[in-house]
Formats: sequence, C-alpha cells, structure tokens
Amino acid sequence: MGFEALLGNARLKDNLKSALRQGKTSHFYLISGPKGSGKRTLARLLAAAMVCAGEDKPCGVCSHCRKALSGSHPDLITVDDPEKRYVPVELVRRARADIFVQPNEAAKKVYLFPRGQDMRMESQNALLKVLEEPPSYGVFLLLSDNPEALLPTVRSRCVELNLKALDGPTLKQALRRRFADASQEALEAAARQSGGYLGQAVELLEGEAGEDPRAAAFVDAYAAGDLYALAQVLVPLEKSKRDALIPVLQGWCALVQNALLQRSGGGMPTPAAKKLIGRRRPAELLKAAEALTKAVEYAQGNISPGAICGWLLWELA
Ligand SMILES: [Zn+2]
Repeated sequence: MGFEALLGNARLKDNLKSALRQGKTSHFYLISGPKGSGKRTLARLLAAAMVCAGEDKPCGVCSHCRKALSGSHPDLITVDDPEKRYVPVELVRRARADIFVQPNEAAKKVYLFPRGQDMRMESQNALLKVLEEPPSYGVFLLLSDNPEALLPTVRSRCVELNLKALDGPTLKQALRRRFADASQEALEAAARQSGGYLGQAVELLEGEAGEDPRAAAFVDAYAAGDLYALAQVLVPLEKSKRDALIPVLQGWCALVQNALLQRSGGGMPTPAAKKLIGRRRPAELLKAAEALTKAVEYAQGNISPGAICGWLLWELA
C-alpha cells in the first residue's frame, strides 16, 4: 500500500519510504503545506507506517495499519479539541506526561497535533520540553499550514515534510475519478482556482462554488492599484459578520499567495495570478499576503469587520 494514497510529492514519499526501510525515522515531523495539500492524509499514512508490523510500511493490511487508518489504534493519540479556537495547553501537557507511559500494542506511540497553526506560545513551549528528550518509542506529528508561526526552536527540531501543489494532469485525473459527472469546464475551473491543491479543488466542486465575483473584483482593483475600486470591494464587507468575512479574506490571501508561488515556479498559472504578477512587484504581493493574513487573524480575534476593512484598505493602498 505504501504512501500511494497521497498524490504527487514523489520525492517526499521516496525519502520517507527509504527512512522507514532503514529504520531511520525521526521522532518529530512537521507536515506543512497550504489548506487542502494533503497534510492529514500524509499524517495518517505516516502514523500507520510508524506502528505497522508489516514489511512495506504502511502495509495497510496488518492489524496495526487497519486500526491506525480507521483512527482506533490505542497508540495513536490526537492532541486537539476542535471545539476550541486554540489547542488547549492542558491537552499538550497531558500528552507530554502520557508519552512516558509505554505503548499499548505497537513498538511506537504516535502523537498527532493536527492544528500546529493554532498552538499558542505556552502550548509550543510545553511541547518543546518533550522535543528535548523524547522516549525512544515516541513520535510527534505536527501539522501546520503556517509553519513560519512556530517557535524556531520547535521547528528546528522537526524533520519538515513540505507538501507541494500537484501538477495539472494529476490533479484533474484525481478530480475526474471523484466527480465523474462534473462538466469539463467546472473541473478545469476548480483545478485552476485551487492552485494545485486537491483538497481545495474538491471543496470548490462540492460546494459548486463558482468564481467568487468579490475575489475577481479584489484582484482587478488590487492589481491596478485602484484605491476607489478597492474601497468599493471592501466597504460592503464592513457590515458582514466576522464568520462570513474570514473565508472571503482567506480566499483573497490564497490568490495572492498562489501568485507569489507561481512567480517562483510553483503553484498554478491562474488568471488571477497572471494579473497580479503582471502588475505588482513581488515585494508588494508579499506585503499584501501579509496584510491579508493579519486581517484574517484580526477577524478570528475580536476586532470588528469595519475596523479590519478600513485597516486593510490603508495597508493595500
Ligand atoms: Zn501494516
């Protein structure tokens, strides 16, 4: 079975396979990549590989693999409370104590932190203590779509597995398998807008979300440096609820990030990316991506949409 369930990322998979074959795996992995890039898929496969009793790990058929892949292995522990905005520090402390209890069934005990981007300083510091002196059987898988936000001391102790965008044909083939009835145009559009990330493309097709007219208006206004047009996009958003504002801003941020990625040879050549690259310098795009990321954080915090949109207009102008 191996790592085939994760599409693309051939080199990363080869490296993992050879580390597993030689028994030279790390105690700490940071699985990074944008939303929809396959972080959870890879984490599940790697966790299974760590507890697998078969030859070609993860074999997918031994009892350890089956339990790990179905989420019921007693030595695979997820450290999170999805109800909470941030990963509670008590859970991290509990995991830190629990790791010194020997594994139940497998040779290894795997702790999965699915929301590294939502771990505050105190949680990361709590984690750091185990990273310094892990028991021989302990494995930590930390997932994050924003690895830059991690403490450098945490990040530097991890082997980073960075997931890349899929190439066009691989992505479209995967989408066709999943959405046999979708029109070719819808499929192409989703592939294009996703920036090469399967999860995002699937979300687009499942939600039948076409191109958001606000996103197109934002790209046009920002690319042209047209303050008035930018205000026309942002002002109506001032009255929206924070929960509605967040995905809009995240969508814009993804467009700008994809443009930056495209410029450095990654991502996908979307029309939005072409417009942004054609008319804005990389430093400006970087600044816009940072401003949008910050705006999302503000919206996730307690700042009013009115204040956020006003601030963003100022930053992007
Ligand atoms: Zn197995």
